[in-house]
Amino acid sequence: MAPEPTAPARTPKARPEGGHGQWGLGETAPLNANETFKREDDGLNVRARIEGTYADAGFASIDPSDLRGRMRWWGLYTQRKPGIDGGRTASLEPDELDDEYFMLRIRSDGGILSPEQLRAIADVSQTYARDTADITDRQNVQLHWVRIEDVPAIWQRLEGVGLTTSEACGDTPRVVLGSPVAGVAADEIIDGTPAIEEIVRRYVGDPRFSNLPRKFKSAVSGSPRQDVAHEINDVSFIGVVHPEHGPGFDVYVGGGLSTNPLLAQRLGVWVPLEEVADVWEAVISVFRDYGYRRLRTRARLKFLVSDWGAAKVREVIETQYLKRTLLDGPAAAPYPGRRDHVGVYPQQDGLSYVGAAPTVGRVSGTVLHRIADLAEAHGTGRIRLTAQQKLVVLDVPEAEVEPLVAGLHELGLEVRPSEFRRGTMACTGIEFCKLAIVETKGNAASLVAQLEDRLPTFDSPLSIHVNGCPNSCARIQVADIGLKGMLVTDADGNQAEGFQVHLGGELGPDAGLGRKPRGLKVSAAELPDYVERVVGRFTEQREGDESFGS
Ligand code: SF4
Repeated sequence: MAPEPTAPARTPKARPEGGHGQWGLGETAPLNANETFKREDDGLNVRARIEGTYADAGFASIDPSDLRGRMRWWGLYTQRKPGIDGGRTASLEPDELDDEYFMLRIRSDGGILSPEQLRAIADVSQTYARDTADITDRQNVQLHWVRIEDVPAIWQRLEGVGLTTSEACGDTPRVVLGSPVAGVAADEIIDGTPAIEEIVRRYVGDPRFSNLPRKFKSAVSGSPRQDVAHEINDVSFIGVVHPEHGPGFDVYVGGGLSTNPLLAQRLGVWVPLEEVADVWEAVISVFRDYGYRRLRTRARLKFLVSDWGAAKVREVIETQYLKRTLLDGPAAAPYPGRRDHVGVYPQQDGLSYVGAAPTVGRVSGTVLHRIADLAEAHGTGRIRLTAQQKLVVLDVPEAEVEPLVAGLHELGLEVRPSEFRRGTMACTGIEFCKLAIVETKGNAASLVAQLEDRLPTFDSPLSIHVNGCPNSCARIQVADIGLKGMLVTDADGNQAEGFQVHLGGELGPDAGLGRKPRGLKVSAAELPDYVERVVGRFTEQREGDESFGS
């Protein structure tokens, strides 16, 4: 649930030269409603009011600029009121859409969770969130139905095991993605975990970086599988071996999807592990100081990088922030295979890691408890979340692999899933998201079940990403089949939930954005038939082991 509904709609005007509100150019006056509330009070300060006032006085006591603005700095979004159909999303005022319950996003930087942490999330889910839990494609867990009255107790439980919701949302440095198998995978180039820990230790909750133009998505992965979607983050550090200096990181900047998708550009530098946090600080400082603050729709770093080009970004980083020159570096070799870690793979120490697929990321507090039990019974208890809405259990001896696979299967978590279950992701959608036009998780789960039934032998990698609106939280433009939620006219001439279809997008060696065949829209009811036809045509026409995306 990336964007927020608080900014009033603005009519785009011609922008004066340099008039984007960049602080680095001395233009610091707030230029829209979001910039105004951020200037009036730092988002991080809302915590004191939650603990001091709102949790006691209740939902009605919450100041509107906190409710629809600063709450996000602590991972809280109001949910959509139940029963409001997607056709009314754009026409209602925020207070007509706001329910008095919250979605709560919990950071797990690098996707790393201990069994104690997973159990704490599970306890919170069961006690305060109606047993809801979704694994997101940003390696977070999201809970729903949270009451403001319970937030202080939730923080106490989470922070007692080293978890936080600080800057899980808002115009802040969001969770830092990491390879889910960092430090364990047999094929690892370099373990990026120390860099992630250093970034979080130094900068998360730091008021120097709590008023960015918009969100800042980052990633560090030393896996050759490039498992953090580096093409679409604001900054990514991807493992590469320098011929003279050894393992380090190739740096990408300025990726992002939403309604103006752009793929990240290489800076052309090589950064050693111990300098990643410094370079990360330089990149986020460029964003804070030069990022566009006039229009929310142009406020992501990708627009600045697109205008400047990677060479100028590098020059500004070196001259204004690092005060030194970075080493030129080789490009990381694109990884041609799967990035999701689903299956059983060797670790460096002779043990295995086991990746499992829930259906479209949906689990529950009850299931999270049982995953923690399984991870301890069959491994050391270490668990990781992936950037594909999956999870990985680490440190599994050979004799424990099949018992673990069976135990996960009982929970609906498949280690050897169908291609449809493996490749389908869905965003939050109309069930809880105020920006949604259509339902997503239920439609996607039903699609998976029907395709498994109809095409039981289909065996080619296939990504199907389902979004509830144009914002692309589930990355529609980089899927084989991307589905953007909208209202369509069905076969009977009635308005119905449906999707605009994007075809042929992908990440990896041939990274590119999907195309939108003109007028190709499909209703939710027709979706299984449509995908079955597309997949059937591919199966008939493919040559050899050609994959869907090739
Ligand atoms: Fe994101 Fe989905 Fe909500 Fe749109 S409907 S904002 S894509 S979570």
